[in-house]
Amino acid sequence: MILANAHLPDGGFADVEIAGGLIAALHTPGAAPAASERVDLGGALLLPAFVDGHIHLDKTHWGAPRLPHVEGRSVRERIAVERVERRRVALKIEERASALIRTLIANGTTRARSHVDIDNDVGLANLEAVLGVREAYREWIDIQLVAFPQSGVTTEKGAPDLLASALMAGADLVGGLDPAGFDNDVKGQLDIVFGLAEALGRGIDIHLHDGGETGAAELRDIAERTIAAGMQGRVAVSHAFALGAIAPDLFEKTADALARAQVAIMTSCPPSAPVPPVMKLRARGVTVFAGSDNIRDCWSPYGNGDMLDRAAIIAERHAMFTDDELEDAFALTTSEADKALGRPRRELRAGAVADLVAVEAASVADAVVDRPPRKLVVRAGRIAAERGVPSAALGKIAIA
Ligand SMILES: [Zn+2]
Repeated sequence: MILANAHLPDGGFADVEIAGGLIAALHTPGAAPAASERVDLGGALLLPAFVDGHIHLDKTHWGAPRLPHVEGRSVRERIAVERVERRRVALKIEERASALIRTLIANGTTRARSHVDIDNDVGLANLEAVLGVREAYREWIDIQLVAFPQSGVTTEKGAPDLLASALMAGADLVGGLDPAGFDNDVKGQLDIVFGLAEALGRGIDIHLHDGGETGAAELRDIAERTIAAGMQGRVAVSHAFALGAIAPDLFEKTADALARAQVAIMTSCPPSAPVPPVMKLRARGVTVFAGSDNIRDCWSPYGNGDMLDRAAIIAERHAMFTDDELEDAFALTTSEADKALGRPRRELRAGAVADLVAVEAASVADAVVDRPPRKLVVRAGRIAAERGVPSAALGKIAIA
């Protein structure tokens, strides 16, 4: 396949030759060899495909009628609401997760990390549904699954055994939830989470909404445990709101501990919470990556699975205005997320995996501020979507 007349992120132009799912070569425009499939991009900007570093495929109502949001502010209240509401959602998880995956792909996302609820109400049922969906879409999107103890670890009887079963059944990573704020047992929860990760050789991704000095102390505890377990580069903390609301000296101490342990921070940058300061964390060597988090579910009626939108939301909240800063925001949805997920980086060079997105934009910075429609999405050298519509092959996918 040749993607002709591509505008590259570095400003140059090339005919991009793709073979065997990889970028084979970047040719001077007009100099590419003949190919069985040739798409003329007409000078459109060709970008690496996006990563959604944090979604909930089992929670989303995507494709189903909107359920009016039920009141409840705290994490504990929201969980109580969800344990009732999730029985009322019209479509099966398989249908909603598939609908969202098709939207992600149409928006240019070909890699994602999804947390999946594990508790006594649902057991492994949500995981089994999402595993089936992952398998069905395997050729089109890489999906990592986190066994997520949404109802707690030490306070939910039997949760540690359920988490172990989830990992044996196919979940890739161990999740966690507010060790202090939810379980009120930091040591108890982290002993179990790190114990499972070490025993089964898995990574970790912990939801941490706990704020202030409590949350910061938990982040440093997680960093210390990461080094002790030799798990540098394999642990992430999602949200880490504490980093957005602590004194500067405590922030620096905590950020440095995260950088030393190579613990990555995921932000969805919700407008309603203190958020980790992206630029300050990056300046201290912390990997920061982006995710949608809740997309039309019991937690939020918002979200659209568009990572260019997410990059713009993050950039605007953090006053990232220069071209360099806008490129940094873009990196949170591409190269930095590839790194946080421990996966090969997609980029415009020979030898890289040909997961690519074309948009009408003059530069990466323009793409972030304009959020143009996706003209073409290529997954491992095959067309996955055109003009926002998934290719016919995706429409034929049936969930076993
Ligand atoms: Zn989440």
